[in-house]
Amino acid sequence: MATFTAEARPSPNILVTGTPGTGKSTLCQETAQRLGMQYINVGDLAKEKELYEGWDEEYQCPILDEDRIIDELEDVVREGNCVLDYHSCEFFPERWFDLIFVLRTDNTILYNRLEARGYTGRKLQDNIQCEIFQTILEEARNSYLPSIVYELSSNEPEEIDSNIEKIRSTILKWKMNNQR
Ligand code: ADP
Repeated sequence: MATFTAEARPSPNILVTGTPGTGKSTLCQETAQRLGMQYINVGDLAKEKELYEGWDEEYQCPILDEDRIIDELEDVVREGNCVLDYHSCEFFPERWFDLIFVLRTDNTILYNRLEARGYTGRKLQDNIQCEIFQTILEEARNSYLPSIVYELSSNEPEEIDSNIEKIRSTILKWKMNNQR
């Protein structure tokens, strides 16, 4: 099986991140389908393979076993052409990603989406605050080269198409700059 170093991947790996409800899964599924990439939803993978290491009493949710997630994905990601979907980004190895896209949604729109998803109380407030303080954007800029971090607005359905086009053109640019 051929493997590629971060510098030698023929096609880039991208990470789509952002506060829950900003539209990551919607955008990633569509992007993977249209651009012929492999979609990996990290939350779903953890659930499917029970990659957890405990229970968070405060948020009433399982705690991700980050080391096992990384072990599980290492071989797939090494080949390139993956689109990963997760609401956090700091624990992934920096070498995995060539491009990072952070989805941003206006507070009122996000509030309505999360409420429709059944979020209430502290969980709803914390996620809205996360978006207000652009926590994930800061996390991305602190964890990766800021020059590979792109912000994408994700308020309206029409933006799904324009965001995929932005991703497509950014990938093309990456390929031109990384041609051997
Ligand atoms: P995430 O994966 O970030 O939690 P989802 O993809 O599940 O977010 O999207 C949350 C909700 O917002 C879904 O109901 C989805 O249909 C909707 N949605 C996603 N992207 C957009 C968009 N660009 N405009 C309007 N609604 C969107």
